[in-house]
Amino acid sequence: MTALDVRDVRFSYGEKEALKSVSFSLEPGRFCALLGPNGAGKSTLFALMTRLLVTGEGRITIAGHDIARAPRAALAAIGVVFQQPTLDLDMTVTRNMRYFAALHGISGRDAQARIDAALDRLSMRERADEKVRALNGGHRRRMEIARALIHQPRLLLLDEPTVGLDTASRRAITDHVHELATGGLTVFWATHLVDEITPEDEVVVLHRGEVLAQDSARSIAGGQ
Ligand code: ADP
Ligand code: ADP
Repeated sequence: MTALDVRDVRFSYGEKEALKSVSFSLEPGRFCALLGPNGAGKSTLFALMTRLLVTGEGRITIAGHDIARAPRAALAAIGVVFQQPTLDLDMTVTRNMRYFAALHGISGRDAQARIDAALDRLSMRERADEKVRALNGGHRRRMEIARALIHQPRLLLLDEPTVGLDTASRRAITDHVHELATGGLTVFWATHLVDEITPEDEVVVLHRGEVLAQDSARSIAGGQ
């Protein structure tokens, strides 16, 4: 089953056509970058995949669930890291995670086990009892990524997750997220930065609301 299937999706803000018949699909367990310059339509596509925006044109299917017909099932299958952080700075890492788990109906021992496992995957376990305010930007982002894994999604969506971070923090995040894909999760990572992509990654190139190419990063860069 494809992890994500986007078919003939269009979206306009009034007169401004942000997406023009966009189609592509992602197989499970891949790291796929959504690459495109500012204004290409990346955030609009993310908003449609997370149902912050709704379009009547085209179809988005997540892990087999049509987001228009079965929004709960489709949304349960995704973990999302938005471009703007959504963290309570005065809560500890664990309390933030518990709050989020509760939103998914997960509590008690089950929640704690999942939180520990998710923090481990981002090498954030030793930060569990720190207040978010005390973490640097890179660690805050890693906590948000861990938080997006609690309900065990099939597809992880990240919208330019390294904006504003230093090189070392960006590197730690791209490495950790590539490992998540190796573990079987499908990752869809929006960026305008080519250096966040490795040659083995798949790339969907978006430009002015249209998919220009979908291929391995190596082929798109002109190698074999
Ligand atoms: P990004 O490219 O990082 O996604 P943008 O700068 O395109 O961010 O947009 C930032 C915010 O402004 C978003 O909420 C977006 O919907 C809104 N926005 C972008 N372009 C316009 C526009 N031409 N008119 C009104 N709102 C816009
Ligand atoms: P990206 O995330 O790739 O930078 P966006 O999805 O933010 O691209 O924007 C795609 C296009 O839609 C851009 O031309 C942007 O200016 C326009 N746009 C985005 N949000 C709005 C909005 N709220 N109102 C009008 N135009 C918008």
